[in-house]
Amino acid sequence: MSLSRRIKILDKGTSSRIAAGEVVERPSSIVKELVENALDAGADYIEIELEEGGKKSIKIIDNGEGICKDDIALAFERHATSKIDDIEDLFSVHSFGFRGEALPSIASISRIEMLSKRRDALHGSRISVEGGEIREITEAGSPSGTSIHVKDIFYTTPVRRKFLKKDSTEQSHCLDCITRLALCNYNCRIKVSSNNRIILNIPQAKDMRERISFTLGKDFAGNALSVDNCREGYSIKGLISSPHVTKFNTREMLYYINWRYVRDSFLNHAVMTAYRGVIEARKYPSVVLYVNVPTEDVDVNVHPTKSEVRFKNPREVYSLLVDSVTDALAKAGPVAGKDYFIAPSISGENKKNYAGRIEAAIKRYTISHDKNRGTIGDTLQLFERDDRREERISFSSLRYLGQVNNTYLIFSKHEGMVIIDQHAAHERVLYERLKRLPPHSHDQMQKLLLPEIIELQPGNYSVLIENIPVLKSAGIEAEPYGENTIIIKSVPVALSDVDLGALIADLTEEFSQTGRTGNLEAIKEKIYALMACKGAIKARSRVTEEEARQLCQDLDSIPFAATCPHGRPLFVAFDTGDMERMFKRR
Ligand code: ADP
Ligand code: MG
Repeated sequence: MSLSRRIKILDKGTSSRIAAGEVVERPSSIVKELVENALDAGADYIEIELEEGGKKSIKIIDNGEGICKDDIALAFERHATSKIDDIEDLFSVHSFGFRGEALPSIASISRIEMLSKRRDALHGSRISVEGGEIREITEAGSPSGTSIHVKDIFYTTPVRRKFLKKDSTEQSHCLDCITRLALCNYNCRIKVSSNNRIILNIPQAKDMRERISFTLGKDFAGNALSVDNCREGYSIKGLISSPHVTKFNTREMLYYINWRYVRDSFLNHAVMTAYRGVIEARKYPSVVLYVNVPTEDVDVNVHPTKSEVRFKNPREVYSLLVDSVTDALAKAGPVAGKDYFIAPSISGENKKNYAGRIEAAIKRYTISHDKNRGTIGDTLQLFERDDRREERISFSSLRYLGQVNNTYLIFSKHEGMVIIDQHAAHERVLYERLKRLPPHSHDQMQKLLLPEIIELQPGNYSVLIENIPVLKSAGIEAEPYGENTIIIKSVPVALSDVDLGALIADLTEEFSQTGRTGNLEAIKEKIYALMACKGAIKARSRVTEEEARQLCQDLDSIPFAATCPHGRPLFVAFDTGDMERMFKRR
């Protein structure tokens, strides 16, 4: 695209072949369109100011090429664009925009002031548009570039306005969308402020990795594996998380096709195929992948917001993704294999963490959904019978025999035996203790000697900040600490050695998934379950006889519970009759 092109209205034949539909759903849709326009204009500095999560106002200032005075009104006409001339150009389009629909759509539901000056012009011009009607065009002093101020979103359609979410939710959508655009333009500086406070300041990066590291966090970029492959004119580059760094959802699986962010379950499927066997069920990696294909092999004109594309050779793209991601994972070490716990490339401390995380995930996501279909089959049925009788076992009176697989504690009882799952049992104990914390009781909260500082992604940061009171009521004292960073000052006494970074990451996921609409008690229950899970003795760790006895005493001190907080049995008991049946003596 030449930067000095003028705006013109596409002919009917062309405009009728452009994917039609709504582009403005919420403030973040406006942010997306306007930032894309700024990038199309060649800006390398963009400032974004949001008020009330973008609902009250969105202002975007860029230092791009600007619009000339004679074109400024035209920009608000439907199908007016400077980016393509006719339908043929669609197959070689390199700009984000080409539909000429964003400005008129946005203008029809808001009040807009736009000020723009081309670099070579002496004066700038200002235009104001209300509900789609042009009110005024004047000459005005302006720096080179464009500044556009969109106010009172959906003021023309109050019903749609009512459907907008809380400020922080809308803001977090805006930030997600800015982050995604920042990830395809590493040399553009982007500054975002909200209600006059800077909330995100993305510096110019020297390369993609640096940009990814800034936007998705050093944790991800520092441990990520590189993907770099090409064949037959198709290429793929990017970073993917190593298999032990996982997420609960696909939010951080980001794809760019020819530098355009797209959302596509087909691409996710390809990546998940490569991760299968090295990642636990219902967990997802973080990936940022840039796929480049010849422009004529991809159709970007299938969706009004252009977030979906079609490929001429989807199979090629699919197999390129699977192969490249598989290669990257394989190069990282021989982690591929079904047995996560003996993955040879994972050693020492990492191995403990790795097994622990997987254990936690399996429990959270497999068992709780499927609690009646244990793999232990008959044994589980025996256990359930026990459960029905509601026999209260006195754990402290059991005789400890030993530990099996560093995971199960074996005891004999008066007539029979008991097997305790050390992690599930300890988790239950912690959960019960946490649950019975009197709200805000300071003697139950322990001040950390070294307060922990945790850096979050911008979107997650705002979600977490909003939930500080919820955390407090669950015994975690957190405060904002500079840009996208929080500081944890106290945690519940029951949690001594918990990995706070991982806990906060999981809690943030939980908050963003429940959308802050769940009731406080339900959210607190979930927090306790997560804290208990993070704080409990892991499976595959050595337990001394003394610790085993302590666990029994603890189990006796809590209300009788046959399952861990996720619904998994924490012990199984066999009496002599059960054992005789097993051995067909009866
Ligand atoms: P599209 O981006 O599909 O062309 P838009 O409605 O988003 O359609 O914008 C219409 C036209 O207005 C663009 O083609 C471009 O020429 C001009 N324009 C919009 N925003 C800017 C900007 N920030 N800087 C320079 N020109 C812009
Ligand atoms: Mg546009």
